[in-house]
Amino acid sequence: MASRKCAAVVVGAGPAGVAVMGNLLERQIGTIAWIDPSFESGRVNRKYREVPSNTKVALFQAYATATQPFKTIVENSCLPNAFSSMAKLDQEKTCHLHYAADMVRDLTDGLRKMDSVYAYRGFVTAANLVEKVKPQHPHIDTSENANTDPQTSDNKWTVRVKRHDSEDELEIETSRLILCTGSHPTNIPVPIPGLDIFRLDLDTVLKPSELAETLPKSHPSTVAVVGASHSAILAILNLVTLARESHPHLRIKWFTRHPLRYAEYMDGWILRDNTGLKGSAADFARAQLEDGVLSTSPAGQVLDKVDCGEGKEAEMYAKYLPECSHIVSAVGFTRDPLPQLVKDGRPLAMEFDHESGQFHEQAGGKGIPGLFGAGIAFPERVVDPYGNVEYAVGFFKFMKFLKRVTPAWGPA
Ligand SMILES: Cc1cc2nc3c(=O)[nH]c(=O)nc-3n(C[C@H](O)[C@H](O)[C@H](O)COP(=O)(O)OP(=O)(O)OC[C@H]3O[C@@H](n4cnc5c(N)ncnc54)[C@H](O)[C@@H]3O)c2cc1C
Repeated sequence: MASRKCAAVVVGAGPAGVAVMGNLLERQIGTIAWIDPSFESGRVNRKYREVPSNTKVALFQAYATATQPFKTIVENSCLPNAFSSMAKLDQEKTCHLHYAADMVRDLTDGLRKMDSVYAYRGFVTAANLVEKVKPQHPHIDTSENANTDPQTSDNKWTVRVKRHDSEDELEIETSRLILCTGSHPTNIPVPIPGLDIFRLDLDTVLKPSELAETLPKSHPSTVAVVGASHSAILAILNLVTLARESHPHLRIKWFTRHPLRYAEYMDGWILRDNTGLKGSAADFARAQLEDGVLSTSPAGQVLDKVDCGEGKEAEMYAKYLPECSHIVSAVGFTRDPLPQLVKDGRPLAMEFDHESGQFHEQAGGKGIPGLFGAGIAFPERVVDPYGNVEYAVGFFKFMKFLKRVTPAWGPA
């Protein structure tokens, strides 16, 4: 088995992994091993290129220039490139996510060429921690509270990588392991067990070109959409467009428990910044899906809203779901499976600390040295001025979080 030592191992090359690389390289911590199956911007490139963004172009630009290594890549890229394409757009407007995905890919290509980066196409399968705590004081603290700060503990992770281009596994020794492994749409069971209904993947419904090929054109179909999230409204927008433009026999039943919730621009902050509707999803919902306009809107001609609030869910599903041929759920995202993580040979049961980007053992156990997370799987917890708690998901939000926390992830 091949082996090497690095100052950090970064798992995943989506927008979060790229942001981690920019921050760690800026701090000049030493060599970094970076592992991803494809190095092509993660899920946003694979699945969401056709999705309209909910953030302004200016925020993607702010992400692309937030660290010195990124600036160097942008300055040295031949024109035209993804950064110059983005710069031509109206900075105050939203854009399709393919612009953002291409920008992340150009940053990735630049980072992979840097001398202190060892990029491996492949998959991290496991990591084992051997912890040796150094005493901070003359007396040795052997208690539960012994210092496990990554800056003072002599911890060692051994990370196993299954490479795409080699039968031989690679083993990397490091004191920092950063998980940026992403999430996928949450799959809930069909609300009526045993019902003969075709499950549509949310990612397919968010990609109009694939959706058009998946649904029948010439015979009737009815798609049940479950949820009222940003993704649910984008899914409805795509289905309504298809029904009106190319699939005249398509109908939609929208099962929702909540009134529509919008992001609101307050004085210097955004209410429901991470959970409310924004951009074209908000415009569409206001103009076509609100109760006061639905019956006369273009969407209302092909969509029925099924109100499942106030405990009516089971009754409504029993009544209306059997009329549907397809179902798609848009009720959130679930972490992708993590590599097998063990400490001294035993599986690690861990919890993420959404304030520091670090992990601790379950049920308030002690900190796990050298293990960090970022991105949609491990986002920052934020509290707005009204006390509402949300998790900050988005390119620039990952960047802001990392700028705050990475200085505490061990010395340069
Ligand atoms: C519908 C929708 C609209 C959105 N709109 C916006 C927007 O307008 N603006 C915005 O800023 N954000 C937006 N987002 C959010 C943003 O796109 C995602 O949150 C972001 O792309 C997630 O990035 P990530 O790096 O955390 O995860 P991912 O992109 O999923 O990347 C994870 C990477 O890790 C790799 N990986 C996983 N496990 C391993 C392993 N064991 N070994 C090696 N590699 C591994 C995966 O293959 C993948 O490449 C949107 C999201 C959705 C779903």
